Amino acid sequence: MGAVRAEHRLAGCNPEWREHFSDSIASESWSEALLPVVTTLLEGGRLDLQHGLLMYNHPDLPELGRLAHLAKEARYGRRAFFNHNVHINPTNVCALACRFCAFRRSKRQDDAYAFSTEAYVEDLGRYADHVTEVHSVGGLHPDWDVTTYESMFAAAKAAFPHVSIKALTAVEVKHLAKQSDLSVEETLERLFDAGLDQLPGGGAEILDDGVRAVICNGKESSQEYLDIHATVHQLGHVSNCTMLFGTVETLEQRVIHMLRLREVADRTGGFQCFVPYPFLPDDTRLPEAQLATGAEVLRTIAVSRLMLDSIPHIKAYRMNVGDGLGELALRFGADDIDGTVHKESIMHLAGSTAPLDADKRRMSRLIEDAGAEPWERNSDYTTFTRFVPPPVPKRRGLTMATE
Ligand code: SF4
Repeated sequence: MGAVRAEHRLAGCNPEWREHFSDSIASESWSEALLPVVTTLLEGGRLDLQHGLLMYNHPDLPELGRLAHLAKEARYGRRAFFNHNVHINPTNVCALACRFCAFRRSKRQDDAYAFSTEAYVEDLGRYADHVTEVHSVGGLHPDWDVTTYESMFAAAKAAFPHVSIKALTAVEVKHLAKQSDLSVEETLERLFDAGLDQLPGGGAEILDDGVRAVICNGKESSQEYLDIHATVHQLGHVSNCTMLFGTVETLEQRVIHMLRLREVADRTGGFQCFVPYPFLPDDTRLPEAQLATGAEVLRTIAVSRLMLDSIPHIKAYRMNVGDGLGELALRFGADDIDGTVHKESIMHLAGSTAPLDADKRRMSRLIEDAGAEPWERNSDYTTFTRFVPPPVPKRRGLTMATE
């Protein structure tokens, strides 16, 4: 294991979850088609590429979901997590032009923008009384270097020390290192010293360089993505990881993607959450994308819960999949539904219709309707509070007429 602290490796999880999971698998019956997976898990083994493909092709989706839900319950019982966060994207100006991206702009476009430090802090200030996390990712601005983000993070921390900063995808870190003539490690050290707390997982797309050449040519390679995250972990910080599916990848490439992430998680213990989300096509340039159905979203959540046993949390990212599928995913292996968010651009420009006005009461209703208990968490999953919604004030109603 690397330098990441032990509480991050478990992150709210029952340390004896494997025994609980085996016991609950043994107490239920399973179809013959799923037995290779069930037997391996029952014996405490790990799933491989063939198991992953079997699960992706298994005809009984509810059965697969039941197995993944048992794995989630073995770790967290009925608890499901959310946080109180906001997304602020410092710039949409980007030197690249990924074909799935509806967010990026060139410097010359009318709606291109780039925040100053003051504008970033002012925007965060609109939400800071209510949130515990700011999620900030953006384009690869050709004029920005590490000092731009050092200034933003230091000012944000000074103004709002209670807000955890989750920011910069791996490709943004690579870009800042190049712009600043620093190594990735030196760049990360400076950003963490300035106030950065953890990295989000964006930009993983599919960890296959052939797929990346088609959908995001010029981005960091698969290995660079993994190496940058491993460096974060070696520096004693956590990060998250993602998978963008439903573009041009095969099922095998999805499973290999998960296995590559698992290998890093095994080595460093530093991935805290995996967030799989389907490609949304509005205003993008990828007409050949296969697109993912709702069933495929739920199946991918279930497969990832079962494959990724060294990554504690699986998130149903409601900003992308929507509230309806997000809450259903809590029965298919997800334990987290993301946060209240308030403001989000990247997914909404690509077609998301997930509501941005969610408050804690609404989040808890989504979770309770899925049969789970709502627990509010902090940004790095080290503190958890059972959320009990305040009682709805009784409305004085009119006396109903009777026949
Ligand atoms: S996905 Fe990121 S790197 Fe790619 S074009 Fe969009 S903003 Fe730029």
